[in-house]
Amino acid sequence: MPELPEVETVVRGLRAVLPGRRILNVRLDKTDFIDDPAALELQLPGSRIVAVRRHGKFILVELESANGRKHESSFLIHLGMTGQIVTCPPEVPVAPHTHVFLALDDGRELRYTDIRRFGRMAMLANTAHESVLGKLGLDPLEATEEEFRTRFRSRRAHIKALLLDQRVLRGMGNIYTDESLWRARIHPRRLGANLNDPEIHRLHGVVRRVLNEAIRLGGSSISDYVDAEGNAGEFQIRHRAYGREGKKCSRCGTLIRRIIVAGRSSYFCPRCQPAPRTRSRKIQKRGGQRARPVKK
Ligand SMILES: [Zn+2]
Repeated sequence: MPELPEVETVVRGLRAVLPGRRILNVRLDKTDFIDDPAALELQLPGSRIVAVRRHGKFILVELESANGRKHESSFLIHLGMTGQIVTCPPEVPVAPHTHVFLALDDGRELRYTDIRRFGRMAMLANTAHESVLGKLGLDPLEATEEEFRTRFRSRRAHIKALLLDQRVLRGMGNIYTDESLWRARIHPRRLGANLNDPEIHRLHGVVRRVLNEAIRLGGSSISDYVDAEGNAGEFQIRHRAYGREGKKCSRCGTLIRRIIVAGRSSYFCPRCQPAPRTRSRKIQKRGGQRARPVKK
């Protein structure tokens, strides 16, 4: 599933080719992932692409109307699980599961392919930006350490769940959450409220480093992800925890384990990322201490 680095890589690729291009026509195949297919067919032809931006895992294509005025809507794209967006000459053979074709005025075609169709597309009215995108949390590349502290310390939820919650941080998914927690040596089941200052400091630092390193390497290609030119990313060779169950931790040699946290597979090193003390263990311990004097 594309996360922040993969979406950022796609956006950078699109930004290199799309701004300034006019959309000549739109051809749609399957449309069940499009909010209002007729709106795309009506509003995109004739529009000129002004900018391509990322907001969390959303791609926003900003437009100008045929009359040169700012368009009343942006073209919103979410890649979902298996979405791919590429530009290519029209004679390139069409990949299976390609559902959206935009003909551009430089003769190229922008194609959207999505095997599972969990992606989303819509014409997002400028007036609706706040209601759709305003609910999202901070961009992890922009959030300060103090903002990390405030957002995580105030919550008695597993840190893994907090990192995945798009209302807390926008753009983190399962891969970069596990990679960040491994690097920060924090167990995925630790409660946000219980993280101490050094842990918050480490987590803030590694989240930025992991995301920036992944962007530099063009993202992680696990199954379907490719960038806007159709190339796979390379960050998967740097994965230290994600998908490595039963393999040795590259720091201490202990075998990486997989547990379910927040309904998601979570990979971690049981030695580098010590489990939080559970209440039941504390009660047992106290019970044992109380029982001893009676025995004597
Ligand atoms: Zn380890």
